[in-house]
Amino acid sequence: MSTTLGSILQELEPNWSIALYETLDQSGQESSDPWNNAGTGHAALCELNYTPRDADGSISLTKARGINEQYQVSRQLWSHWVESGTLGSPRTFINALPHISFVWGEDNARYLKDRYEAMKAEPLFSDIEHTEDLDEIASWAPLLAEGRDPRQRVAASKIDSGTDVDFGSLTRQLANHLNEAGAEVRYGHEVTSISRGSDGRWQLKVRNSASGEKFTATARFVFVGAGGGALSLLQSSGIPEIKGFGGFPVSGKFLRSTDSAVADRHHAKVYGLASVGAPPMSVPHLDTRFVEGRRTLMFGPYAGFSTNFLKNGSITDLPFSVRPHNLLPMMQVGAANTDLVTYLVKEVSKSAKKKIETLRDFYPEAETDSWELITAGQRVQVMKKNGQGKGVLQFGTELVAGADGTIAGLLGASPGASTAPSIMLKLLERCFPAQVESWKPRLQDMVPSYGRLLSEDPALLSEVTAATNRSLQLEN
Ligand SMILES: Cc1cc2nc3c(=O)[nH]c(=O)nc-3n(C[C@H](O)[C@H](O)[C@H](O)COP(=O)(O)OP(=O)(O)OC[C@H]3O[C@@H](n4cnc5c(N)ncnc54)[C@H](O)[C@@H]3O)c2cc1C
Repeated sequence: MSTTLGSILQELEPNWSIALYETLDQSGQESSDPWNNAGTGHAALCELNYTPRDADGSISLTKARGINEQYQVSRQLWSHWVESGTLGSPRTFINALPHISFVWGEDNARYLKDRYEAMKAEPLFSDIEHTEDLDEIASWAPLLAEGRDPRQRVAASKIDSGTDVDFGSLTRQLANHLNEAGAEVRYGHEVTSISRGSDGRWQLKVRNSASGEKFTATARFVFVGAGGGALSLLQSSGIPEIKGFGGFPVSGKFLRSTDSAVADRHHAKVYGLASVGAPPMSVPHLDTRFVEGRRTLMFGPYAGFSTNFLKNGSITDLPFSVRPHNLLPMMQVGAANTDLVTYLVKEVSKSAKKKIETLRDFYPEAETDSWELITAGQRVQVMKKNGQGKGVLQFGTELVAGADGTIAGLLGASPGASTAPSIMLKLLERCFPAQVESWKPRLQDMVPSYGRLLSEDPALLSEVTAATNRSLQLEN
């Protein structure tokens, strides 16, 4: 998020001075690290939680449309940066990969068919294919079909224009570019608190982890892009807008294939349905990944519980985030989400054998010895007060900005990295309203569809799709 915002601002205002402080010794090593997330370019092509069945039985595409529009913005900005040399070869961070939704059972197969009909009629998803034929599924993703009981009713939908993204590589390339273009990028530097100085500017207390040296950095505008660390920094700033917000950490674990022959036989992201009570980001998926150009295969995530807000954080993160203003909303969230609590208890106590059994629902012939369990990143789900002042759990991301727009931060998890460009463009509108009008022509160079919806403009959609496929080398 921070390197995306920094890179946009540096291009819009090359004379502004920008500083980025990062606790770790490199950027992109927390949630954006490829082994800490799932690297799906979330465009709502295969994630079933974005296309729920409404009470009237119809399939709602509202969420899916919104996420796809956001991902189209990401594709355009990354294309622009590839062409301007800000990013290197597209192969270093993005790869074309079919996105498949896969279900079994009568009700689920009916749901998937209805979803297919609804999506086919929508310009953003019109290239969707669907089948209930096991042989055809085998031709899309052989591991799903081999060893499966042919009497089981299965269904799959596929969109070939999906992507896998190495967000760690993307982040590091943007950070390096920021540095080369004159921003001050300091690794091994932790921001310990933020407060307002008497001149109205923000004062950041910074600590050099290696030397222990402490200093104060001053800024007219601060973006708290600290991932799981954002809540405590925004709390330290004292802005009223952060009152009532809390964080609920859920950690992720994946099974990673240790057999490259198996990984080589799967070329897709296959998403299934989440179990009852599971948070949306825990939807199980059998996932081809390209990390540093190497093909790998993962399955998960399995949820875990830790009170850390960052993988490299501390177990005191959750207890220290509790304040008088968020205690009640947090307790209300706990009481109202017993399904989630039950799901987490079950997940945390799941044995290695049970984990493999879940994998076998997708890949029936999976061998226990060919998989290792890895710990992925922490996600901090947002808890906040709703309109009636009651605590609710939210699964998306939340931009929190001070009233005068001089400070903003991002809370929450999903779909996160895939939608960073559109979230940061929204931040510009919220925090720099006086400049945005004059930035518009530049922003339209960077993102040709800026200010327009592709779902409402099929001609622009095909133009943008063709151009981004070319720049990002995503043509099949
Ligand atoms: C298991 C899992 C799977 C996911 N799968 C996907 C996916 O498939 N697709 C997708 O789009 N998104 C996915 N996400 C979400 C995505 O990874 C995040 O939304 C995104 O990486 C967040 O980026 P960020 O820049 O906000 O945070 P981070 O990448 O976490 O960056 C925050 C940075 O701030 C630094 N920091 C923290 N506190 C301080 C401090 N006080 N001072 C200085 N530096 C600090 C951290 O060290 C870190 O480098 C997944 C997340 C998880 C955990």
